[in-house]
Order: sequence, then structure tokens, then C-alpha cells
Amino acid sequence: MAVALPSFFTAIMIMSRLMAFIGISKNNDMSSKLQALDIAPKVSHDPSAIESASQDFGHIVKAAPQAVLLPSSPRDIASLVNFSYSNSVPFSIAARGNSHSLNGQAMAKNGVVIDMTSMKSGNGTGIRIASDGSYVDVGGQQLWIDVLNATLGLGLTPVSWTDYLYLTVGGTLSNAGISGQTFRYGPQISNVYEIDVITGTADFVTCSPNNNSDLFYAALGGLGQFGIITRARIPLEPAPKRVKWVRMLYTDFLDFTRDQELLISKNGRNDNKALNYLEGSLLLDQGSLDNWRSSFFPPQDQPKIISLITKFRIVYCLEIVKHYDSQTKTTVDKDLQQLLKGLSYLPGFMFEKDAKYEEFLNRVHSEELKLKAKGLWDVPHPWLNLFIPKSKISDFNDGVFKSIVLKRNITTGPVLVYPMNRKKWDDRMSAVIPDEEIFYTVGLFQSSGFDDWRTFEDQNKEILQFCEKAGIKVKQYLPHYTTKVGWVNHFGSKWSTFQKRKLQFDPKLLLSPGQRIFNNNQ
Ligand code: FAD
Repeated sequence: MAVALPSFFTAIMIMSRLMAFIGISKNNDMSSKLQALDIAPKVSHDPSAIESASQDFGHIVKAAPQAVLLPSSPRDIASLVNFSYSNSVPFSIAARGNSHSLNGQAMAKNGVVIDMTSMKSGNGTGIRIASDGSYVDVGGQQLWIDVLNATLGLGLTPVSWTDYLYLTVGGTLSNAGISGQTFRYGPQISNVYEIDVITGTADFVTCSPNNNSDLFYAALGGLGQFGIITRARIPLEPAPKRVKWVRMLYTDFLDFTRDQELLISKNGRNDNKALNYLEGSLLLDQGSLDNWRSSFFPPQDQPKIISLITKFRIVYCLEIVKHYDSQTKTTVDKDLQQLLKGLSYLPGFMFEKDAKYEEFLNRVHSEELKLKAKGLWDVPHPWLNLFIPKSKISDFNDGVFKSIVLKRNITTGPVLVYPMNRKKWDDRMSAVIPDEEIFYTVGLFQSSGFDDWRTFEDQNKEILQFCEKAGIKVKQYLPHYTTKVGWVNHFGSKWSTFQKRKLQFDPKLLLSPGQRIFNNNQ
């Protein structure tokens, strides 16, 4: 292709704006043409379907599509994409997983949203475990909780998870899929053998590291820009029965991070002595001990924890898990003691639980039910998720946790902070992480009222401005930028590859417009 990329994208941008303009007057035309397709019975204009496709878990952004496709097979998706691709006025298309995005990433203003969950029990797109148990083939629309339940039925399990399991496989693979397992097993995108993708040119492509590898690496962490993932092949391992689940408290941030880094240095995938999970969080004066991260601390210990928090205003909580089963039942405690030997947590502030493996993995759901019962789940979520290089995490603690967060005194939701190893990520994939070998993820998972989410967004902006001024080269996870410059900076050296791949796999810029990467206004 001899066309210079920037001018190609400028031309496409102008065309797509013109088309959007024409498109408004031709919307009825698009709708009537859709009615002529074989998928017409699956295209909904129902106001309630449009309304739910216009919002997401963030409850901050709203954008209405013209229609919602309720596919029953990948073929239906390919028909829709093909129709738009060949149309004189193409329209945008967004796959919508479980709509747990925060800033409209799964929306398609004036386009068509594909409700992936309508394929949950569809033909050939379910959850199929290989006869030798080495992998599971999963439809992109499946929820991780359903993958867990299906594989546990055969004593098997994927190894890399998210904290919350009511997310779709296609949705998390389009970001990365991180949790306390990432330091050892890598993110979920590092745990995929093969995927089926319907590209923006309506091609149905099976890809893997050895087959159509460009599309494989593009789509994983690709923010839905290159195609719709309709199947993923995920490796399985024998499932443990139970877990030892430990939380330890610190008042000194350096001790806390030193211990986290020490623990994640033992990270061999097959090293049975290594931890299976490590995270960390902040206990804040203004927070609650029982936020949706799970009720953990025994009631009799809560008063002493609360007085510690009152005294220090921030307490750091290191959280780890070690799996065990009937064979390792007698040795797990000794292995754990060995791992925790020499750590600097506060004496008397180590708390332990013994739980079923699935109870631990599904820990956020019970809190979700409690919040739902109180009407506190479907509210605005002005979240901020960042990756921070290890060399600057202490500056971040001083400038953000100890300064901005304490001063503003508004953060009451969970705040996570834990490290991971860069070597467990594959740099050929679209996901973006800091350059250093160890980097931290920080998540401020805030809920707000419908009137005051801007106060939290202001805090998020202040945090980002502080990082920029202090030279802390953060990368956003679940990135959200409204300008081209923002995206170019985000992708850094990966930007030109990202652009080239867009041109190759979605040249008409149809897919996932809600990410606002190629269709922002600035
Ligand atoms: P959606 O929000 O529906 O879609 C996300 C993006 O992917 C959109 O751009 C959409 O168009 C695109 N997309 C959706 N399906 C497909 C597909 N099949 N093929 C291609 N593109 C597709 N993330 C973590 O990594 N770790 C966590 O522990 C974690 N915990 C969370 C807890 C909660 C309560 C919430 C709300 C979110 C959490 N997330 C976490 C973030 C979550 O992974 C992302 O928001 C993810 O995008 C949500 O998945 P979804 O299935 O709802 O996708």
C-alpha cells in the first residue's frame, strides 16, 4: 500500500464525518436496508434495547445506536459487518459484551450495537472442553463465571483471571484481563492459544501465533479495533480445591512494596512453591473495611484495624493466595510460612481465611449482590486505572495517595495497588504497559451519585496532571482519551503498528467507535 498513513487516516476521517452527516439523514434508509437482510428479524429498534445499548457500567457517557443486533451465530455478525462494509454509507458497529465499560467504549452512536450476550447459548459458540482437557473453546460472548463453572465440572480451570467474573471473554481479551494472578501467569491475553475474529472487512479469520499472527496480536488488547472475537481457545490446568487466603497490614509504603516485589520475584509458571495470587489495597480513613472487595477481616479484629487506620489515615493491605488440594493439604501451611518468612507486616495484623477455590475467584459477586440490594451498583463509576513504573511508585504514593486522595477526602471505593512482571506480557500484542521490568497497577474504583461524579473526575484529572508534572510515565489501563494526541502518546512506539493494523483489518473504521481512537474530534 503506497498511501502514506496519516493522509489516509485524514481522508477517512473527513469521509466518515461527511458520511456521519449524510448518515443522519440516511438513517431511515440504513434501517430500511437492514430490514431487507436475512438478519432482519434479529435487528431490534425496540426503545428498551436502544436505551440499554446507550449506557454502560460507568453511567457517565450516553450514546444511542440506530439499532441493536441480537445475533444467534457469528454468521449473523459477519452479515452485519459485510452489509456496512459494502454500503455506500457505512455505519459504525460495536460489539457489546456485558457492557462493563466505563466511558462508552461499547457504544456506537447512530450505528449498530451487537448484543453479544444474545449468542450465549447459540449454535456452536458455547463452551467446549477439549477431550484431553488441555484447553477450552469459548464463545467471545461468554462470561468468565460460566467458563469457570463449566471447567470446574471436569476438575479443570483457566489460570489467569479478572477480579470480577461477570465480564465477557471478548471484552476482557480486548483490554488485557488482569488480577492477582498476572504476576505469575501473565494477563488473560497471554493465556490464549487461538481466536476466531470477524474483521472490519467481514472476513472470518482463525488466528494464533503461527497462523494469521498479525491479527492475533492486533486483536489481543486491541480495544475492539480490528475485529469481533467470536471464539477463544484458552489453556486449562487441573483446578485446586481450596485456597489459603491471607491479608497483612502495613503502615510503611516502602515495606509494603518491598514485600510485594519480593513475593512476585518467585513467579515460575510451574513453580509449585510460588504464590498463585498477589494484590494489595489501601485502607482509608474515609473508606469502609467492607467495600465490594469483600468482607474479610474477622469482626473481633475490626476495632484494632479501625484504630490503626484512624491513627495513620492510610494502611496498606497485602493480599495473597496459595492454592491447595488433597495432595498438598498437609504441606500448604508450611509452604506459606516459608514464603512469608522475613516479611515486614505489622505484628498481630495478619489475617487468614480458608475458602473454596471458586468462592475466592467469585469474591466480588457477593458484594455486588449487597450493593444491588441497596441500589448502589447501577450508579456512576468515575474510575481511574493506571500502570505505573516501579521506579516511580513511591513518588506516586507521596503525591497521590498521601496528598491528593487524603486532601480531597472523597475516595471511599476500593483502591488497589499491586505489581506485575513485564516479562509475562507479549509486546507484540496491542496492549500497552510501562517500559520497566516491574510495574504497578493502581485502580481507584469509585462510585458516586448521579450529581457528583464530576468531583471524582476532577480528582482523576488532578492525579493525571500530577503524574505528568512529576515525570511519572503512567499508562492508562482501560484507556480513555478524547484527543488524537492522547492516543498517540498512549501507544507510544506501538502507534504506527496500531494504525497500520487498523488500515489492514478495519479500513473503513467501522468497529468499536466508542473507544474514540480514530474518530475523535481533535
Ligand atoms: P464491554 O464493556 O461490553 O466491551 C469493552 C470493549 O470491548 C468495547 O470496545 C467493545 O466494543 C469491545 N468488545 C466487547 N466484546 C468484544 C468481542 N467479542 N470482540 C471484540 N471486541 C469486543 N478488568 C480487568 O482486567 N481486571 C479486573 O479485575 C476487572 N474488574 C472489573 C470489575 C468490574 C465491576 C467492572 C465493571 C469492570 C472490571 N474490569 C476489570 C474491566 C473490564 O475488563 C472491562 O471493562 C471490560 O471491557 C468489560 O468487559 P465487557 O465484557 O463488559 O466488555
